Amino acid sequence: MSELIAHIDMDAFFAQIEKLDNPDLKDHPVIVGGDSQRGVVSTACYLAREHGVHSAMPIKQARQLCPEGIYLPVRTDRYRDISSRLKKILQSLSPTIEMVCLDEAYLDISNIYKRWGSAEKFGLEISKQICEKLELTCSVGIGPDKLIAKLASDSCKPDGLKLVENNLREGFLKELPIEKMLGIGDKSVEQFKKLKINTIWDLSQIDTVKLKKTIGLRAVLLQRRVLGIEQNKIIDSNSTKSISNEETFERDIFELKQIKQILFRLTEKVSGRLRQKGLEARTVTIKIRRGDFSTLTRTFSGSSPVDITDKFWRAVKLLIEDFELDSRGVRLLGVELSNLQKAGNQQKLFSSKDHDRAQKLDQLIDQLNSEYGDRTIIRGRSLPDVD
Ligand SMILES: [Mg+2]
Repeated sequence: MSELIAHIDMDAFFAQIEKLDNPDLKDHPVIVGGDSQRGVVSTACYLAREHGVHSAMPIKQARQLCPEGIYLPVRTDRYRDISSRLKKILQSLSPTIEMVCLDEAYLDISNIYKRWGSAEKFGLEISKQICEKLELTCSVGIGPDKLIAKLASDSCKPDGLKLVENNLREGFLKELPIEKMLGIGDKSVEQFKKLKINTIWDLSQIDTVKLKKTIGLRAVLLQRRVLGIEQNKIIDSNSTKSISNEETFERDIFELKQIKQILFRLTEKVSGRLRQKGLEARTVTIKIRRGDFSTLTRTFSGSSPVDITDKFWRAVKLLIEDFELDSRGVRLLGVELSNLQKAGNQQKLFSSKDHDRAQKLDQLIDQLNSEYGDRTIIRGRSLPDVD
């Protein structure tokens, strides 16, 4: 019947792996992160968290709070290796999975959980297999969409399982402070509080026009997400039904302007490839990985598929509207187009002067780029003056 999504999140992933590899560390507060370049905590184990240490905190501050802590460098290759084993386990459990980052994934369990008797039993099976095969613990949240699943797993960490069925959505979201809402930063929280939005549920109850005026279009998306009207679909990590491009930077980026320039360039690239394949896309996803490896993905789906760079760029701009840069910086950016179909079917819906002009411009740029190489022609916005 209705959809059921599981969110799997490894508990203090990097720190757990360090303890697995060196059992002597088991009863010590372990803090991973803070090589000389990136001076922030990537992961703190739960013992370290008791001292007030958390990810994204400057290592210097962590050392003051927890001088007896064991501070270790990030071993990305090792974590990646375990992550790919995690992915295999999850793939064996569900045909549709989305790895969000090394230690987090969404599984579509709608049609398969019954094999285990109930959604809870299936959730326990996931934890059990991960625990047996990787010797690591995780938390599992299950809900009718990604938002609820993720909030559920957050609320039962570590080593927990929580199921929130759709009829319990309201009660669950009324208990969660607005700070816990996904995809909003401190600034937005402040603005929400001024509007007396204190819990996540409050967000859905406020007048939409008022909300739009104060916070902009993205707040409306958030509101719809809280109500479950606007859902982030699972982006199948195995599917070729998407076109994406991402860039990892040698040095973390700390400038919003630069982030926008790169996102625009990526948007141009993927939409160029989309047109080359004769396809249109309805969904745009951006991926932002911070300096501490935490990863944010945001998705927007339009009402009809398009193939025009400018339309995708508008969606990307909407998705980064309230993104807040902090001391972690950004180490990777990505843009993905999905929900693809053959071009030409929906064209008439968009027929307007602007659309035609945008399309002609795209065609011209594509043509020149294919004749003279990828970066021959770039739009003004890829140049340093993007707003
Ligand atoms: Mg985690």
